[in-house]
Amino acid sequence: MSTQTTGMQQKKIAIYGSTGSIGKQTLEVISAHPDLFTAEILTAYSNDSLLIEQALLFIPNIVVIGDITKYANVKKALEGKPIKVFAGEDALEQVAAMDCYDFMMAGIVGFAGLKPTLTAVKNGKTVGLANKETLVVAGDIVMRVAKENNANIIPVDSEHSAIFQCLVGEEHNPIEKIILTASGGPFLGKKPNFLVNVKRDHALQHPNWSMGAKISIDSATLMNKGLEMIEAKWLFGLAPHQIKVVVHAQSIIHSMVQFEDGSIKAQMGLPDMKLPIQYAMAFPVRLPNKFPRYLFDKPNQLSFDEPDVKTFRNLQLATDAMNKGGNTPCVLNAANEIAVYAFLKNRIGFLDMTELIERTLEKIEFIAHPTLDDYFETDGEARNFAASLIQL
Ligand code: NAD
Ligand code: MG
Repeated sequence: MSTQTTGMQQKKIAIYGSTGSIGKQTLEVISAHPDLFTAEILTAYSNDSLLIEQALLFIPNIVVIGDITKYANVKKALEGKPIKVFAGEDALEQVAAMDCYDFMMAGIVGFAGLKPTLTAVKNGKTVGLANKETLVVAGDIVMRVAKENNANIIPVDSEHSAIFQCLVGEEHNPIEKIILTASGGPFLGKKPNFLVNVKRDHALQHPNWSMGAKISIDSATLMNKGLEMIEAKWLFGLAPHQIKVVVHAQSIIHSMVQFEDGSIKAQMGLPDMKLPIQYAMAFPVRLPNKFPRYLFDKPNQLSFDEPDVKTFRNLQLATDAMNKGGNTPCVLNAANEIAVYAFLKNRIGFLDMTELIERTLEKIEFIAHPTLDDYFETDGEARNFAASLIQL
């Protein structure tokens, strides 16, 4: 497809987290539509070899490596190429403020994505938001700053992309509620006596999606769905009672919106993140592609169940944090990041993650109306406290 047939201007894409699962799939979409998209900025934290490989292939204007100890290596490998190389956390933020790109794919994982994403939003950029933690931590501020600066935030998370797609053409019709679908992860139907012995490699094996390590563990604990409830609250301006989670093990319906007349719209397709990625990048245009299609060619059942929040208590903790508001979701997110990385390093067990989050939530002081600085302080305090529990 060309810019002429689509009516689209060519978009210069900044991929934050280009070496991750979302980042790599964004590059695949760019490769499939070279007339419509160019990779203008690529950033990574520590995977210098993949960043170099990507830079040599796509020749972006700028690359940023978060880990400054890798700077010399990246600089040397890209010598003689028309590519500027920067390093460090500050550079990630400074580059996000530059004029040279049109669209940021916010594909960094965790709280680390907040600053660059907020900078892009402050500069009125269109952001494709995969980094849900940004909204979990500081959704009130990010959405307000986006509004003040006419920045569009287009969801990339598949559930939120589904809701966003269901809302096209419904601008004047209020939402009664949204129904977020959850696959249930690799341990659907399991009970605590099984979960207590679960190991890292098993938890990383998601039945329907191939994703980065952190979100894979979040999917196994159902924390991912909790984070997504909070993400949806901010993205779509909803009250907590308007958000329902339904377990739908097949991951074909990516989420649904129910309107005031009771009508429910769903967005369906095979689980493939390239679709929401491409949709966000090309919005409002739908581009043709060769992704596999869902075929109604054999008997198939789509099932819907209530989530088991007694077993998967992280989802209940996240729901409570969403209801309480203030800095509580920020505490939840920080403690969860510490818990997930400790589990990935085999330092704590699967069920210990929930306990660590719960104890951190009890400990950190509540702030009803936090400033951005409060969020940064809360994040630091919650991380330190959660980490101290592991060292004991
Ligand atoms: P990933 O671990 O595969 O990749 C993370 C990327 O972030 C890497 O490029 C890494 O270099 C970068 N990064 C990590 N820490 C950083 C730091 N401190 N500073 C700068 N860069 C840093 O993660 P992913 O699975 O691609 O997920 C990215 C985000 O997208 C997460 O917020 C996740 O919840 C969300 N998301 C992912 C998927 C998916 O299918 N992978 C689906 C929906 C939402
Ligand atoms: Mg999702």
